Amino acid sequence: MGKLWRQLRWRIVAAQMVVVVVGVALVLLMAYVILSLFAPAGVLAELDAFRRSIFTAVSVAALGAIIAGLMTSFWLAREILRPLRQITASSQRLAQGHYTERVPVPASDELAQMAENFNQMAAALEQVEQQRVALIGNVSHELRTPLAGLNGYLEGLMDGVFPGNEETFALMDHEVRRLRRLVDDLQALSRVEAGQISLQMADFDLIPLVERVLRQLQPSAESQELQMETDFTVQALVVHADSDRVAQVLLNLVGNAIRYTPEGGRIVVAVKGEGETAVVSVTDTGVGIPPEALPYIFERFYRVDASRTRRSGGSGIGLTISRHLVWAMGGELTAVSPGPDQGSTFRFTLPLAAGTK
Ligand code: ADP
Repeated sequence: MGKLWRQLRWRIVAAQMVVVVVGVALVLLMAYVILSLFAPAGVLAELDAFRRSIFTAVSVAALGAIIAGLMTSFWLAREILRPLRQITASSQRLAQGHYTERVPVPASDELAQMAENFNQMAAALEQVEQQRVALIGNVSHELRTPLAGLNGYLEGLMDGVFPGNEETFALMDHEVRRLRRLVDDLQALSRVEAGQISLQMADFDLIPLVERVLRQLQPSAESQELQMETDFTVQALVVHADSDRVAQVLLNLVGNAIRYTPEGGRIVVAVKGEGETAVVSVTDTGVGIPPEALPYIFERFYRVDASRTRRSGGSGIGLTISRHLVWAMGGELTAVSPGPDQGSTFRFTLPLAAGTK
């Protein structure tokens, strides 16, 4: 009995039966009261016959109500239980890893909402699973390139094809560094994506920081005969951010500008205040970004020209990390480009320090 009572179907039946019983009892009670109180005296014999016919009529009506109640309860229970059973079965399949599982959306509003929510959750899980699989594929692909390089040099050394001299070791060292940078980047990526970035937020002047980063990158810009300029509309601009992280973002953006700008090109780093934010932009006259690639360049491992950037040591995760860092500091990182070979501009914002606004 206890087990039956826990089932929704029998609870609905019981609820309907309560309605029937209460209805019948009320009709009988009212008939009894009306007949006893208001029937004129001297009609007792007719009254008895009348009472009997009322009881017969009420009994037939009660039987009809019970049958209708049972039918509607089973119909209602089936309407509610079918989608619930589907969701229960589908969630079990989902838990077993069948991420393509979806349930049909029933007609009833509330149940349709529940089924739609379930389907949305399943779609989100499916997407996360696809990203996880893609991530493993990407990581192994990225690790393979430097490992294959190292393997080649080692085999060459063992077979005597490569001499064991400084040049060979320098080439091997280059591959090891690339591997190390990739592993460091991957670790940084997993931290920023998990939101585990510890920020040392403080007020500091952006201008000296930008100048320091540019000084650091000056040698590589010069080696590619690139002209690096600044365009500061203010002498000082105090922001509230983590200076090391801002330097990291700037190194990534200017580093990219150097990497993707052919010899003789120009890079301009501009800083200005705009309302409540500081805006830093890095503009180059380099290879540019085709419009169809623009929406994807902040996605991890995305490269416009995979073969070229992989050769130059790019992992395709620098911009993903930079965007997360800027977001964490309360800013936004965006990119625009008029098209291939027409240069690009990367722009990020940072909140100004309280007194600067
Ligand atoms: P990578 O390490 O490959 O440079 P990023 O995440 O820093 O990775 O950049 C992603 C991709 O965006 C690059 O592979 C490149 O195709 C494109 N990109 C980034 N910066 C520039 C730029 N200044 N000019 C043209 N393309 C760029």
